Amino acid sequence: MAKQEDLFKNVVSHAKEYGFIFPSSEVYDGLSAVYDYAQNGVELKKNIRDYWWKSMVQMHENIVGIDAAIFMHPTTWKASGHVDAFNDPLIDNKDSKKRYRADVLIEDYAEKLNQKAQKEIEKARARYGEAFNEQEFVSTNTRVVEYLSKKKEILERMARSLETENLADVKALIEELEIADPDTGSKNWTDVRQFNLMFGTKLGASADSAMDLYLRPETAQGIFVNFLNVQKTGRMKVPFGIAQTGKAFRNEIVARQFIFRMREFEQMEMQFFVRPGEEMKYYEYWKETRLKWHLSLGLGKENYRFHDHEKLAHYANAAADIEFNFPFGFKELEGIHSRTDFDLKAHEQHSGKKMQYFDTELNQNYTPYVVETSVGLDRMFLAVFSNSLKEETLEDGSTRTVLRLPSVLAPTKAAVLPLVKKDGLPEVARQIIEDLKWDFNVAYDEKDAVGRRYRRQDALGTPFCITVDHQTLEDQTVTIRHRDSMQQDRVKIEELRGIINKEVSMRNWLMKM
Ligand code: ATP
Repeated sequence: MAKQEDLFKNVVSHAKEYGFIFPSSEVYDGLSAVYDYAQNGVELKKNIRDYWWKSMVQMHENIVGIDAAIFMHPTTWKASGHVDAFNDPLIDNKDSKKRYRADVLIEDYAEKLNQKAQKEIEKARARYGEAFNEQEFVSTNTRVVEYLSKKKEILERMARSLETENLADVKALIEELEIADPDTGSKNWTDVRQFNLMFGTKLGASADSAMDLYLRPETAQGIFVNFLNVQKTGRMKVPFGIAQTGKAFRNEIVARQFIFRMREFEQMEMQFFVRPGEEMKYYEYWKETRLKWHLSLGLGKENYRFHDHEKLAHYANAAADIEFNFPFGFKELEGIHSRTDFDLKAHEQHSGKKMQYFDTELNQNYTPYVVETSVGLDRMFLAVFSNSLKEETLEDGSTRTVLRLPSVLAPTKAAVLPLVKKDGLPEVARQIIEDLKWDFNVAYDEKDAVGRRYRRQDALGTPFCITVDHQTLEDQTVTIRHRDSMQQDRVKIEELRGIINKEVSMRNWLMKM
């Protein structure tokens, strides 16, 4: 565990030191759970967004994008259920004065039971080798059965209590399980209360005519209220999707863990409108398709898992998370939700405007059902960044820090380095940059010995270093060094564009899906 905490600390400090992420308004000691993306972070973030947009919008004939405003008519949030139900159950520890999400405390407890069961399974696997039958073991080993059924029982009881707003029972559960403050060990808890996560603000100049507004807590509603506008003007036929990326705001109760849980963050969402009754087919389709998108980045299949929800949100009839193995364990990265016709019906009711679609094939009007995919851009950033940061020991015993980013996402694709600052080498390096910059983000670096420059680019995740030396002047060749293998090849300058493109083009990466 200590090792994992160290790894996470390294991630946070590397992100700052190398110009990826800074605390917001740091000169005033920062603002809790708000961060700024710096010169390299903004490029990585943009590349992740583009990678998503391309796979969702450009690659699907029946998906189009929009960019709705952050402010929306306040009735939107009444209709969506956010005013009444976008709450988290919070609990305070009376001794430490720390505030927690009651459901998270319970889920963490359940996860510990799960881990105990997994440990038993791994032990047995090692003992029995080839002959090990996991399914049989899980259903017969008394300890594993006990751990897993206890876990299930706890989560089901919590889901029931939250569903029925029985907050006293949520507290009772915490007390029965003897859950302690993770920081101090104290079990002196307050009652559980609901806390609305939306940020409010005002629109208008004078106090009496000002209108209460909310900063949107999700981008999805901007899609729902535009559903018919897009369908009609784009002549879209069900099934079709509307995609959007943009900021969302939540007054999170517990906002630790760096950019994993922020108060201002960015979502990449797609709402897919389908015929009623066909939603489960598309729900399964999008679960699988979204997982493939994640896997195409090559961060390791073992780092992803599905988590099917026990407790469904008020609008859903099925929901699953794609969880990622973050430095602090498996946590939600993306949600896939079958939202039924809840949102469109609610907006129809609150606005008095019809939100129905006429299906010419069926010759029938209906309110489409919706399957949503929703991934946090910042969480995606954290997944990619933390998974890529490696400390490596090289053959000669020295170490290097390397950010093995998927090259398609790397902020800078190549750095061009003149071996020395004289003899016309910088001029040739500049010429190479002039040519490459039309297609790629490239950097020029002439400071320090070339080995130090390589290390600097490794730490920034730059896939290629191109070194211009005296031989270049004679035969128009350079060395190209690969970040991951550190292999160096001598190639012609005119070949550079093709070599880089092959490695970083979205086409080649998305084709792996
Ligand atoms: P959690 O259970 O972690 O609070 P959620 O289930 O409320 O997340 P959704 O409402 O499904 O999240 O939002 C979709 C996605 O938006 C999440 O999978 C996550 O990647 C991202 N997201 C949600 N809240 C935050 C946040 N506070 N900071 C960063 N990303 C977030």
